[in-house]
Amino acid sequence: MATLERFHNIVDGGKATAASGRWFPSYNPFTGEAWAEIPHGDATDVDRAVIAADRAFTGGDWPKLTASARGKLLHRFADLVLSEAERLARIETRDNGKLFAEMSGQLRYIPEWFHYFGGLADKIEGAVLPMDKPNMFAFTRREPLGVVAAITPWNSPLLLLAWKLAPALAAGNTVVIKPSEFASASTLAFAELFAKAGFPKGVVNTVTGYGSEIGQSLTEHPLIAKIAFTGGDATGAQVGAAATRHLKHVTLELGGKSPNIVFADARLDNAVKGAVAGIFAASGQTCIAGSRLLVERSIHDDFVDRLLALARQAKLGDPAEAETQVGPITTEAQLKKVLSYIDIAKAEGAKLMLGGKRPEVPHLAQGWFVEPTIFAGVDNRMRIAREEVFGPVLSIIPFSDEDEAVSIANDNAYGLAAGVWTENARRALRMAERIRAGTVWINTYRAVSYLAPFGGMKRSGLGRESGMRAIDEYLQTKSVWMNLAEDFPNPFVLR
Ligand code: NAP
Repeated sequence: MATLERFHNIVDGGKATAASGRWFPSYNPFTGEAWAEIPHGDATDVDRAVIAADRAFTGGDWPKLTASARGKLLHRFADLVLSEAERLARIETRDNGKLFAEMSGQLRYIPEWFHYFGGLADKIEGAVLPMDKPNMFAFTRREPLGVVAAITPWNSPLLLLAWKLAPALAAGNTVVIKPSEFASASTLAFAELFAKAGFPKGVVNTVTGYGSEIGQSLTEHPLIAKIAFTGGDATGAQVGAAATRHLKHVTLELGGKSPNIVFADARLDNAVKGAVAGIFAASGQTCIAGSRLLVERSIHDDFVDRLLALARQAKLGDPAEAETQVGPITTEAQLKKVLSYIDIAKAEGAKLMLGGKRPEVPHLAQGWFVEPTIFAGVDNRMRIAREEVFGPVLSIIPFSDEDEAVSIANDNAYGLAAGVWTENARRALRMAERIRAGTVWINTYRAVSYLAPFGGMKRSGLGRESGMRAIDEYLQTKSVWMNLAEDFPNPFVLR
């Protein structure tokens, strides 16, 4: 067996193994084989990382930096990530099976979050307050929260981490990162760059291990001030409950069952590509997957034919190769989950139009692949239309008019994103208002930016990432009062 590459945690500015000395394997989803080893941390490692972060928050060089100097560090880090983009993208592709073509694009874009929030670091302003009391001067300070726990999933480890780290650090917090046990390698390689950029030790730390073993000690740790979480809604609910029990700040970016809605007047060639982008890009393993395709009845059959024609051409293959369009599922457990949802959909009476199984070709046999799968004749009450599959499985649901489209779109527990395809601008804006989702894309799909707030309504989460106000999620307000009078009146009454 080939030797496995070892990745280390970053704690207090240096590389660290697990206190127990244990490691766990990380698998390459294309080969199904272990390729790397990750420190198998436990509560001792959580404690060590959180204490280092707390020490860096309360003493040392980090709190002494001016806001402008903090911003400059973020810019320097952004430049370093850009110079390492290809190496980091290769690690992520090997570790979670996402296409190198997509990951290298993401890695070249991730620095923008650090530039944007680096620029905001010295624009965090308090206010001088108008006063209703004589001889009193008061102002507010916007202060960091303390140690932030950043917990990320396996599907886009570095992008989703950047959404948390950039505002958290710009605001002056320190961080402990817990990546998913299924895709930790790129995060550990990324975290090494903070010391190179000149960040003081302890500002960014990592702790790896199984969420079921270390999640609780991290989310309940008394020195953690805030949890910034991205993952599934079941775990998110546990994390939210722990945050409430222990009175911590929390943001939750959770799952979705997003409607991608095609009206008869849409540019159908674009809408077909938008439907494919919504569900087959990243093999459907994105929180914003447009997994419910709502198609106006008058164009339904024609649209389904066009969609099948395009989806059939999707090239499955090695995610490291430039021409591959659909890569494997990241974990074996997720592969089984996706296949089980295909069985559920068939049993519910949905009509299988494409895929529905693992590809039967020798060069993909070792990988955790599922063919692009399309079900037509889906009723919005079926489980396949209500539950997040997190794989390349599309449910097509017909609708008759705008009201019905809105009603089907909103009849779901989630509210992360939606797509609307129409050439009618008034209808597009009406739909954008009526759909209960944190993001609505009109005539496009799966677009994100550091400038645009992102987050969920309903079961898709709490709080927003990206955009200027995201920094508020990592700040708290302090009011400072100063008595300008020479005396101090009656001490027994409220001033
Ligand atoms: P997950 O199982 O909820 O895990 C997310 C993270 O939480 C992982 O690091 C996991 O560690 C950790 N974790 C597990 N149990 C924990 C606990 N008790 N306390 C604290 N942390 C715990 O999600 P996933 O399967 O990795 O990711 C897929 C899900 O993420 C999907 O539902 C998807 O929609 C959602 N997602 C949402 C967004 C968004 O921005 N809204 C973006 C991407 C993905 P281990 O992996 O080590 O167990």
